[in-house]
Amino acid sequence: MNPGLDETHAPGLMSWVESANDPATDFPIQNLPLGRFRRAGDGTWRIGAAIGDQVVDLAQAGMVATADMNEFLATGRETRRALRLALSRGLRHGSPDESALRRALAPQARVEMGLPCRIGDYTDFYTGIHHARTVGSLFRPDNPLLPNYKWVPIGYHGRASSIIASGQAFRRPRGQTKAPAAPAPDFGPSQRLDYELEVGALIAVPNALGSPVPMAEAEAHVGGLVLVNDWSARDIQAWEYQPLGPFLAKSFATTLSPWIVTLEALQPFRAPFQRPPGDPDPLPYLDSPSNRTAGSLAITLEVWLQTAAMKAAGNPGQRLMTSDFRDAAYWTLAQLVAHHTVNGCNLQSGDLLGSGTLSGPAADQGGSLLELTRGGSQALRLANSETRTFLEDGDTVILRGYCEGPGRRRIGFGDCAGTVLPAAKLG
Ligand code: CA
Repeated sequence: MNPGLDETHAPGLMSWVESANDPATDFPIQNLPLGRFRRAGDGTWRIGAAIGDQVVDLAQAGMVATADMNEFLATGRETRRALRLALSRGLRHGSPDESALRRALAPQARVEMGLPCRIGDYTDFYTGIHHARTVGSLFRPDNPLLPNYKWVPIGYHGRASSIIASGQAFRRPRGQTKAPAAPAPDFGPSQRLDYELEVGALIAVPNALGSPVPMAEAEAHVGGLVLVNDWSARDIQAWEYQPLGPFLAKSFATTLSPWIVTLEALQPFRAPFQRPPGDPDPLPYLDSPSNRTAGSLAITLEVWLQTAAMKAAGNPGQRLMTSDFRDAAYWTLAQLVAHHTVNGCNLQSGDLLGSGTLSGPAADQGGSLLELTRGGSQALRLANSETRTFLEDGDTVILRGYCEGPGRRRIGFGDCAGTVLPAAKLG
């Protein structure tokens, strides 16, 4: 029924790594996501796979021919499938390789996770239609969705150098802002600092300059998905974004989750790509039979906030919203790759394609504070009686994502966390 499924997806598979059999783990033996880690006192980044609360050192296990994730990704889907199969067989209950693989394990709590690969270019799309409509209505009440939205996967080129690993703190940005009635702009720390809940695709196989990737081949160029927090300074953004789009409002930090959840692991959670009745069909270069039948992915997404006061009280944080990737994203991964390359643009191994903010249709499903507080006009009251319109210094935002369903083993992405520090002193 689902041709991409094989023995590695069997929901009953159990691992000799006992923590991987916990129903609540993000990393059962059916997931096996890839990341880069290093041990304390060792500066070398290594490729690892997550299993339960452990990481498998893939070079030590003799399972990868390179220590460079970008090189590994560029070898493509068949190499990834072979690694997944070898890992799945080696980590199963009763595997003859248990003692050898056990020597290649390290507890995740004792290693540092880096960015999953080197990211040369970062493109951020705007596929979240509920986000686009809500934010559009704040800026343009008469005309929330611009006429190109249902025809063109809208995107812009983001900044790759300021992409940071989950767990890293960053400084509140300073910049120009201007209140609507003020005669001239002000300068100082952003007062409207926000997060954006996004999913990111990491490119595995590059395409040559001048060679567009057709829809039928588009997913073969993607390695897997991560969670992305596209931190945004709304006050800087509002003043600078016309006519060329966001710039300093976005380029100060973007946080990525550490594990690449491969397209193979996500295969059981495929869903048809459907448009609401009356919406235009995609142009032929953005359409394919497999995209229609299985181009979408059902991924549940969550945003959690842990304020400094919560942290001090030992409170792990509060969930602010939940949404679903499939319902939120107006375009599929294959459509993003096909559109990005249709003009001949070359994508490179490790390039990041952000989805845009993935809000659900309801008012309490906003994927940013801009939406949840109606542009800062309605403060959120938190369970511990604190309130927020935008982020305060000391706030930690944690994005989470997971897939589950009847007859399938739940898999997750791991946390994508970042903490706001006070703005840097100038001079
Ligand atoms: Ca964004």
